[in-house]
Amino acid sequence: MELNTLDFMTSKDVLALKRSGINTVNDLLTFYPSRFVNYTVVSVNECIIGENVTIDGICEGKASVYNAKNNLSIMTFYIDSEGYNIKVTIFNRHFLRTKILYGKYIRLTGKFDKDYTKFIASEISFDELTSDVVSVYNVKGITDKRIREIKEKIYYKYSNTLIDFLPKEIQEKYNLLSYDAAIKFINIPDTIEEVELARKRLKFEEILKYQLKVKYMLYVRKNYPEGVAIAYNPNRVDEFIKKLPFTLTSDQEKCKNDILHDISSRYKMNRLLQGEVGSGKTVVAAIALLAVVSANYQGAIMVPTEVLANQHYYTFKKLFEKENINIVLLTSSILSKERKLILKQLEEGTVNIIIGTHSLFQKDVIFNRLGLVVTDEEHRFGVRQRVSLVGKGYLIDHLKMSATPIPRTLAISLLGDSDISFIKTMPGHKKEVITKYLDYSHRHMVFEHIREEIKRGRQIYIITPMINDSDVMDLKNAIDVFENTKRYYQDVAKVGLIHGKLSAQEKKAVMDQFESNEIQILVSTSVIEVGVNVVNATSIVILDADRFGIAQLHQMRGRVRRSDYQSYCFLISKAENETAIKRLDLVEKTSDGFVLAEADLLNRGAGDIFGERQTGNIDFKVANLIEDKDLLEEVNELADSLFASKKFFTDEYKLLLDMAHNNYQQTKENLE
Ligand code: ADP
Ligand code: MG
Repeated sequence: MELNTLDFMTSKDVLALKRSGINTVNDLLTFYPSRFVNYTVVSVNECIIGENVTIDGICEGKASVYNAKNNLSIMTFYIDSEGYNIKVTIFNRHFLRTKILYGKYIRLTGKFDKDYTKFIASEISFDELTSDVVSVYNVKGITDKRIREIKEKIYYKYSNTLIDFLPKEIQEKYNLLSYDAAIKFINIPDTIEEVELARKRLKFEEILKYQLKVKYMLYVRKNYPEGVAIAYNPNRVDEFIKKLPFTLTSDQEKCKNDILHDISSRYKMNRLLQGEVGSGKTVVAAIALLAVVSANYQGAIMVPTEVLANQHYYTFKKLFEKENINIVLLTSSILSKERKLILKQLEEGTVNIIIGTHSLFQKDVIFNRLGLVVTDEEHRFGVRQRVSLVGKGYLIDHLKMSATPIPRTLAISLLGDSDISFIKTMPGHKKEVITKYLDYSHRHMVFEHIREEIKRGRQIYIITPMINDSDVMDLKNAIDVFENTKRYYQDVAKVGLIHGKLSAQEKKAVMDQFESNEIQILVSTSVIEVGVNVVNATSIVILDADRFGIAQLHQMRGRVRRSDYQSYCFLISKAENETAIKRLDLVEKTSDGFVLAEADLLNRGAGDIFGERQTGNIDFKVANLIEDKDLLEEVNELADSLFASKKFFTDEYKLLLDMAHNNYQQTKENLE
C-alpha cells in the first residue's frame, strides 16, 4: 500500500518520507527509530546524583533570568517534587520564562548536582507524556512526533496484514514476541521495556533469516551436488607425501583428508584452511593441487600481492621438483609476449598450475580444465575479484587459506556456507614465544638481551611505531631508531632498515641481506612483509607497541615463531591509558590467535578485519554482529538443528524456506 493513498497523510509528510526512501506502509512500519530516549519519570529518592534522569513536579513560582553573556542566559526557579523542594537551573531557555507559573506541571530531564536540592536541567516540557519513550528518527521535513502519529494510525489500520515468519514453536521456545507485537512495540512503544522486547524479536528474526540463507547454500551444495567428482590418483598423492622431508602433523593429516574428500565428491568444495603463518598450510594446498593434477585437471593459486606470488611460485616449484608438473607465474610484471604464450598453454592444457595475482581473473585467462582454485589470504581480495575467478566455472572446488585467525563470531556469520579446517599445532618442536610487556624505563634490559642473542649468533627484528598514519613521522622515527641502533651495536652487529618508502626491489635487497645473515638487526616500520621466513631470527622488539592493534602484534610475533631456538617478543610502551595497557597485557599472556582475534574484533569492529565491502554484505538493520554475539551463537545453533532435523523443510517453516530458496536462486543466477 502506497503512503500517498492514505487520507490522513499530508503531501508534505509523503514527500519528506519519500525522500528517505519510504514509500509504502510496509516501508514505514519497518523503518525503525535510530534511537529511543527514555523519559520514564523517576522518583527523586531513586535518582543517582550526576546521572541523567527525568523528574517531574509542580512549579513553586516564577523564574528569574540572568544574562551572563551575550549568548548565555541562566534561568532558575523552584519546583516541588514529591515534597522535595528543588532549585532548577537551565541555560539558554529564557524564552520559556513566561510559561513557568505557580502550580504548573513541569517535567525536567537533567541531573542532580552535588545533592538533591539542585537540579541542572537540559530539557523542560509542560505536557504529561502519553509514552515514556520518545523515538528519534531524524528525517528532514517531518518531526519525530508526526512520524509516530502516522505510524500509530497505520499500525492499527494494517496490523492484520503483517506476516509472521517465525513459527509459534520458536516464538515460545525463545520467549519472543509475535511479529505483530514487535512491530507495535518498536513503532509506538509505551515503555523502554517494550522497545527491548521488540528489538530482541526483530534481531532474532533477522539473524535467523540470514543464517538460514547461508546454511541453505551449504545444504544444497552438499545434498544436491552439481560439481565434478575428481578421480585423483591416490597412489601418486601418497608417494608425494612419503617423499616430503617431514611427516605431516596430525592437524595437517586431517585437513588433507577433508580436502581430498571434498575434491573427490561431486559437490563443490568451499573450504577454509585456517592456520597461522608457518603452520604448514602450503604443503596441504600442494597435496590438493597434486591430486587435481593427477586427474588431468588444472589448478590455480591466487594471492593478493606480487611478492607473495613470487614466493609461492618458488615454494611450489621446489615442492613439485620431482613431479612432472608445469607451473607458471602470471603477474602484471610479466611481458605481454610471454603472457600470450602462457595463456595459450593454459588454454591448451599444457600448464598444470598457474600462480598469480589479480591478473588471474582477467577475461582473456581461459583454462582448459580448471579443477581447483586455491586463494591465499582471500579476505584481502574484493568480493567481485573472488567471484570472477571461481566464476570461471562456478562449481569449481575452492580452497581458501588464511593465516588471520577469524573470530568465531565472523566465522559463523560471514563464512557460514564454508567448511572450515584448522591447523592448530605448529610443525616441528617450535617453542612458545616468550612475550614480555615492558615500560620504556626498562628498555635497557631488552637492549642487553639483544646483545646477548647476537653474541649467540641470533638475529633480531626491531619494529618502529606507526604514528597516526603519518608516513613522514614514521619514516623519521624509523631512521632515528636505525641510527641509534647502529651506533649502539656497532661492535657486534650490522643493522638494516626497511620501510614503506622503499621500492619492492630495495626491500627485497635488504630482506636478502637479513636472510643470509649479512645484517643481524632489521629495523622496520610496522608489519614485515607477509611470509618472511628467517629461522635464525629469535627476537622481535616492538617499540610503542600500544600503537598497534592486537592482531597486528600477534602477527608480528609470529615472525619469530618459526625458530627452533627459544624466541622472544618484547612489547615496549609508555602508554598510560587503561585500554592500551589491557590490550598489551592480553597479548603478553595469550598466544591463542583465536582468543586474540575475538578481542581484536570487539576492539575494532568487523569492517576493519574483513574490509567494509565484505562485512557490508551482512545488511543487518537491527542486529549487530559484535553486540549481539551471544544471540548470534544461539540462533546459529537453532539453524543447525533445523537442518539436522529436516524441520526446516516442513510446512511450518515454509515462509523461511521460500526466502532461503529464493536467495539461493538469485545468488546462483548472479554467478552464472
Ligand atoms: P604456512 O603456509 O602455513 O605459512 P608453510 O606451509 O609455509 O606454512 O610451512 C612453514 C614451514 O614449515 C615450511 O618451511 C615447511 O616446509 C615446514 N613444514 C610444513 N609442514 C611441516 C611438518 N609437518 N613438519 C615439519 N616441517 C613442516
Ligand atoms: Mg605460506
